[in-house]
Amino acid sequence: MKILHWFREDLRLADNPALYEASQGNELIALFVIPQNIGGASKWWLHNSLQSLSNDLSKSGVQLILRQGDPISVVPELAQEAGIDLLTWNRVYSPQGVLQGSAIKEALNGSGIKVESFNSQLLIEPTKVLNKQGKAFRVFTPFWKHCLAMLEPPLPLTVPSLKGTSFQLESARLETLGLIPSQPNWAQSFDALWQPGEQGAIEAWRKFSEGGINQYAQGRDFPGECNTSLLSPHLTWGEIGPNQLWYYTQELMAGNQLANENGEKFLSEIGWREFSRYLLVHFPQIEKSSFNPLFDDFVWQNKESNLIAWQKGQTGYPIVDAGMRELWQTGYMHNRVRMITASFLTKHLLCNWRSGMAWFWDTLVDADIANNTASWQWVAGCGADASPYFRIFNPILQGEKFDGDGQYTKRWVPELTMLPNKYLHKPWEASETILKTAGVELGTNYPKPLVDHKLARELALSRYHEMKLNHQ
Ligand SMILES: Cc1cc2nc3c(=O)[nH]c(=O)nc-3n(C[C@H](O)[C@H](O)[C@H](O)COP(=O)(O)OP(=O)(O)OC[C@H]3O[C@@H](n4cnc5c(N)ncnc54)[C@H](O)[C@@H]3O)c2cc1C
Repeated sequence: MKILHWFREDLRLADNPALYEASQGNELIALFVIPQNIGGASKWWLHNSLQSLSNDLSKSGVQLILRQGDPISVVPELAQEAGIDLLTWNRVYSPQGVLQGSAIKEALNGSGIKVESFNSQLLIEPTKVLNKQGKAFRVFTPFWKHCLAMLEPPLPLTVPSLKGTSFQLESARLETLGLIPSQPNWAQSFDALWQPGEQGAIEAWRKFSEGGINQYAQGRDFPGECNTSLLSPHLTWGEIGPNQLWYYTQELMAGNQLANENGEKFLSEIGWREFSRYLLVHFPQIEKSSFNPLFDDFVWQNKESNLIAWQKGQTGYPIVDAGMRELWQTGYMHNRVRMITASFLTKHLLCNWRSGMAWFWDTLVDADIANNTASWQWVAGCGADASPYFRIFNPILQGEKFDGDGQYTKRWVPELTMLPNKYLHKPWEASETILKTAGVELGTNYPKPLVDHKLARELALSRYHEMKLNHQ
């Protein structure tokens, strides 16, 4: 049989159910269609990940065919052109991903080409998890409890033996697709930080499993320490799957090499990833609208200069600026700091969560429609299971609690390196002499705070109460 496997968000050979099915002694054609709507940092990641996948496939004589355009027409056209018997893919759960899958199935209906799709992206498919009333869960804890009671993930599949085809097909050249930025190449520093591709994902897991996972439950909140997995971009592109992580973690716990507290906490974060995809399947409108529709009437300030100061890490709040600069320089930001910076943008600066989400979408190497949407809405107070709006993160206390020794903040905001830790998260409270000794001149080499925390908090709360009153 001649089989076409359409790679989507499953850029790996191991534990890839659709590829496994496609490869059983068959002639394999491998296809990837370049997505049009991804951000700059994701493009950089994708370029390198495709390079890695292409190298891995070519070892078995399989060429990775790259095409551009809308998959809804590109995939059926290639299927017909190559005269295949079966088309396989692993499902993608975004509204666009679901639409593409069903449109392609419909286009090939009656063509004689069989189509099979699989799950490689989630521990449990969203449609299988419902509450006692047969409805979708809206709160994480009961959702995850329900999942844990049902979970029987299959053993991860091995890398299948692959066989290419002699059939010649046209492919775009990766180097000419413009995925790597030029003039300037702002992603140059990413090369030393990340290893996109399946090998990179395995290596990231190895490092984490020998280090950070052992402090994960307590340590994951401290951005100055390396206690999280850094697996997010690998998971976004499916270079490793949740099923594999589930087994590897369970194995460590079963062999007493990992305390249950740490293993279970890590798996519950994988659970949050499941939950955000689950929400997008059951409530697809949240890609664009607030989960809590009340917030669609919230009066944002949306001051352009504030948004720009936030993007550049020039707000005058050191922990916020550190996070935004980490993001720009590495394509990544620690989760605790993502929460602080997102809260600051939406509540202190009253900028619509969509503008922050768009910036993250463009700059994160792990940009993921489900996690990004759900997390921004969660922080802004309008999402599923969101913390109440009136709990406004205090960027000074957050900095002091989670980066008291300034390891993280001073790394990304070097102009404050000499400032005593007592004032690091509130430099405006330091005396002239202390600032001078530390070489800090507020308003000159480090900004004065863009807003006053107390006043900004009061304004945000009054906007929130107005919104509620308007709906009574
Ligand atoms: C405003 C905001 C925007 C975010 N945008 C994204 C995004 O675009 N892409 C993305 O992958 N994550 C996003 N997150 C979630 C989270 O910050 C990252 O997944 C995490 O920081 C990645 O680092 P890690 O791989 O070391 O995480 P670890 O702590 O090692 O966690 C392991 C994996 O679990 C998943 N995970 C962890 N935390 C969350 C969470 N809160 N929600 C959903 N999944 C989670 C990720 O896949 C992560 O790789 C966002 C969070 C916030 C607050």
